[in-house]
Amino acid sequence: MSFDIRESGDTEKELEKALRPLSFDDFKGQDKIVENLEIFVQAAKMRGDALDHVLLHGPPGLGKTTLSNIIAHQLGVGFKLTSGPVLDKPGDLAGILTSLEENDVLFIDEIHRLSPVVEEYLYSAMEDFRIDIVIDKGPGARSIQIDLNPFTLIGATTRSGLLTAPLRARFGINSHLEYYNAETISHIIERSADILEVRIHQNAADEIARRSRGTPRIANALLRRVRDFAQVKGDGTINLDISKIALNALNIDTFGLDTMDHKILLTLIDKFNGGPVGVNTIATAVGDDAGTIEEVYEPFLIMEGFIKRTPRGRMATAHAYEHLGRETNLNQGT
Ligand code: ADP
Repeated sequence: MSFDIRESGDTEKELEKALRPLSFDDFKGQDKIVENLEIFVQAAKMRGDALDHVLLHGPPGLGKTTLSNIIAHQLGVGFKLTSGPVLDKPGDLAGILTSLEENDVLFIDEIHRLSPVVEEYLYSAMEDFRIDIVIDKGPGARSIQIDLNPFTLIGATTRSGLLTAPLRARFGINSHLEYYNAETISHIIERSADILEVRIHQNAADEIARRSRGTPRIANALLRRVRDFAQVKGDGTINLDISKIALNALNIDTFGLDTMDHKILLTLIDKFNGGPVGVNTIATAVGDDAGTIEEVYEPFLIMEGFIKRTPRGRMATAHAYEHLGRETNLNQGT
């Protein structure tokens, strides 16, 4: 069965939206970040200023967009959303910037993918709330300065290492979102089940949580799939048995690893004798691109101790060999 828990179609996106928390209170986990943001938001509100620019980084599906929405909501200001790759020319950015009202939040997803000219254009906008616009072409061309309303830029990125130093320096608030623990994910699943009006047993929520890679987006997607199984194969209630049947049918193993994770680990172990091997080689072997492997799959595999990064490339650990039922290659020293 070909199934990617990270992809979502239009209806899935609608459902994802419906499950999105709207206040800091509904946003579970990331306690330290939320605690600080609440203070910064309250202080900005008290002063009547725009909140300082915020950089949120961390793997996909951990709540960067959600948190940004909540910030705008709590500030009581407008929210505009765009993304690095969409902003092709400075003119695209100028259009959005000039449409912002006082203290609005502008969210730029995948900010590490801004083109250098657009990025440079952003500097003066962030710093002085001012941009230069070139009007006319040829010899008559001249540049005029436009004042912008003060605004808050929230940049989200899965690859903060790719951000240039000048851009990074322009964010006053800089937060890294971590994978969630299973207990928090279990609470998120229970909240989502409530919104979806489906009954779920506590041990079933815990089981789905354990297999969600510490990621709310994956937890919600798995919940929706398990709900389908409960409807067709059971009485609609999500219990432990139905959850296990569904998760196994979806090829999500007890650690939350899916088909692609297995492919990556088996490639490392079977084709490259456990490594070390470069990420580009792994990407070619599994038929995905290196960026996706680095941003989406690898962080979790490293955190859970299946892969380690060495100066000469990635290596499978003894834990990976054991989990996949392969004999450990003792020469690897893993
Ligand atoms: P990102 O922008 O980091 O890729 P999103 O903000 O789009 O992630 O979050 C994906 C989904 O996960 C959202 O629809 C939201 O319902 C859910 N979600 C994320 N973080 C939380 C959280 N802390 N509590 C509850 N639900 C969350």
